[in-house]
Amino acid sequence: MCIFCEIINQEIPAYKIYEDDHYLAFLDIAQVTKGHTLIIPKKHVSHFLQADDLMISEIMILAHKIAQQLKDKLHCNGMNLLSNIEEVAGQSVPHFHVHIIPRYDEKDALSIQFNENTDKNIEETYRHIIG
Ligand code: AMP
Ligand code: ZN
Repeated sequence: MCIFCEIINQEIPAYKIYEDDHYLAFLDIAQVTKGHTLIIPKKHVSHFLQADDLMISEIMILAHKIAQQLKDKLHCNGMNLLSNIEEVAGQSVPHFHVHIIPRYDEKDALSIQFNENTDKNIEETYRHIIG
């Protein structure tokens, strides 16, 4: 069983900040920044692309509420909202989750950098996508 399902089933502890019949939010053990939170569906789906329309809309509404709560309580200056899809993108737990990462300073422990693009053929890429 996956580690997030174990948290849902109360087999391992977590710092839960929100729970209802379908969703759970708890502090990420890594605390990349103060208040780093994960929101998960109680139904095991492996990542964002496996979630249906209802789950996507409900989890984003919940992320919006929890982000507001974190901002009000922790007085961060900004946030990153992140959902990694598959290992190549950094997903380490194969249970859909949304990270909310409060930001206090540009130099805090999270760094998201858009390096110079190697694929310059935007025209060809565009045609692939819409074709
Ligand atoms: P990702 O790398 O996007 O799959 O994120 C998985 C996150 O789960 C990481 O940031 C981990 O720190 C976090 N994590 C793993 N195990 C636990 C746990 N038992 N309690 C809270 N967070 C966890
Ligand atoms: Zn799971």
